[in-house]
Amino acid sequence: MSSGFEIKKVEAMEILDSRGNFTVRTFVTTKAGIRDFGDAPAGASRGIREAVELRDEDGGVRKAVESVNYYINYALHGMDVRYQKDVDLTMIKLDGTENKSRLGGNSIISTSIAVAKTAARALGVEVFEYIGGFRNHTIPVPLLNILNGGKHAGNQLKIQEFIVIPLGFDSLKEALKASTAVYKTLKNLITERYGKIYTALGDEGGISPPLSKTVDALDFIYTAVKNSGYEDKIYLGMDAAASEFYNERENVYEIDGSKKTPDEMIDFYKDLADAYPILYLEDPFNENDFERFSVLQSKLKKVIVTGDDLYTTNAKYLKKGIEAKSTTGVIVKLNQVGTVTETLEFFDLARENSIKTVVSHRSGETEDNFIADMAVGLNSDFIKTGAPARGERTSKYNRLLEIEKEYGFRYKRV
Ligand code: PEP
Ligand code: MG
Repeated sequence: MSSGFEIKKVEAMEILDSRGNFTVRTFVTTKAGIRDFGDAPAGASRGIREAVELRDEDGGVRKAVESVNYYINYALHGMDVRYQKDVDLTMIKLDGTENKSRLGGNSIISTSIAVAKTAARALGVEVFEYIGGFRNHTIPVPLLNILNGGKHAGNQLKIQEFIVIPLGFDSLKEALKASTAVYKTLKNLITERYGKIYTALGDEGGISPPLSKTVDALDFIYTAVKNSGYEDKIYLGMDAAASEFYNERENVYEIDGSKKTPDEMIDFYKDLADAYPILYLEDPFNENDFERFSVLQSKLKKVIVTGDDLYTTNAKYLKKGIEAKSTTGVIVKLNQVGTVTETLEFFDLARENSIKTVVSHRSGETEDNFIADMAVGLNSDFIKTGAPARGERTSKYNRLLEIEKEYGFRYKRV
């Protein structure tokens, strides 16, 4: 009986990600011939505490592929794919470093995802069902990044992501219909003002117009929301990814043509939240400033201040954030911590503390849609997977639409 679940082979290859960089795809095959894969995504605005990806000098990932084909393949041989925790702990132990730098975070996470998907396939159940059982599934609310700045675009905007949040719709399908209407209206507004060339897409499928001030981007988006007739149902959010424009030496943030002290940044965000219907604010300060996150959260009670680089999906740092009352939201990215098991540990800790969860893609993605199933399986509040454009983003939305249609799960109320 159990041999059907035993790992026969773990094998990796180099594939392309959405930025044209190579990344790792790992296949796991059981002795019964069941096989599935997992891909390692890649961030651009990475946190300093993230698991380290193994990269060759020429930008390839052959070293990481070798890590899988030799060390991981040997260590996992004969293990049961259903024993995710044992598999992940075996890789963690084999790696032996704090940040997975020996075997590579990319080798480990692609294997970990492949093991989970292969187990679901071997059991004949959906991946979301394998992860979360069959109780109370909901479709998470998407945070759609429709205008890109920061490291994901070629414009002067320092804020990395400008997000729309469709709330209170009857289904994801309706929510996406409304959100895509806003996305298209925004494109038209930009075309009218600057010409069509400026509707080129950034790394996450949002448009990247030649704007330089935060309020200009928010003005355009809010106008698009109003012109589309969704003022009462579509809210706004931002991922500042503030570590990217923080000047540590001077302890200032270089944004919108000026240098702002951390206290001035608090006022800056407060003014924006007063002027626009902002519901969500990710990484508003640099990744070490747990205190300042907490001050902002206490001042903006209605906003879900969220930690991404602040926690890097690591329960150890979330505990610190819980003590400091830093945020009411967390980003959940598998490859930041490096295994499915540690990601679930982090997720559970957030849940136990009534912190809103945002299962998230990376800016460098593939067509692997594992995070869509994971978000449904865990009943996550939100999923962040870019604009409704570009295949590596739509693959996640389309998987959610498929689950919604097939199983009739309810659209999440948050
Ligand atoms: C983010 O910061 O939330 C993000 C998805 O970007 P990256 O993958 O570049 O870290
Ligand atoms: Mg972020």
